[in-house]
Amino acid sequence: MNSFRYKLATFMHGRYGIDQLYYGLLVTYVIFIILNIIFPSFIWGILMTASLVYALFRMFSKNIAARQRENRVFLKLWNPLKTELVLCKDRCKDFRTARYRHCKHCRAIIKLPKKRGKHTVICPCCKERFSVRIIL
Ligand SMILES: [Zn+2]
Repeated sequence: MNSFRYKLATFMHGRYGIDQLYYGLLVTYVIFIILNIIFPSFIWGILMTASLVYALFRMFSKNIAARQRENRVFLKLWNPLKTELVLCKDRCKDFRTARYRHCKHCRAIIKLPKKRGKHTVICPCCKERFSVRIIL
């Protein structure tokens, strides 16, 4: 077993390996599999293969600078979307007890207890006061 590990480590030496875009491509691959099951078409098969081949190509690539650039572009697009998804999940989870509002000065997201009416809030980030109205 140690021999296999050594051979694998030797093979992967100088290659790019795994990053966030690799996982994103695998998730895309699984989504295409599910779409292919629901709506059978050869297009899903082509897209599945393309995403898997690209993920493997990136993993074994020796052009590390180019792969890092691609990952940076991916993260630039993915991180704002991920933030929105996490916020959406939190809003659903805390729907009975809390409300989320943006600070009017710094756009920070503030979690407030669910109390009807108009309230004055102090932003924990910029310390500015602003009024918030919670309807339900
Ligand atoms: Zn603020």
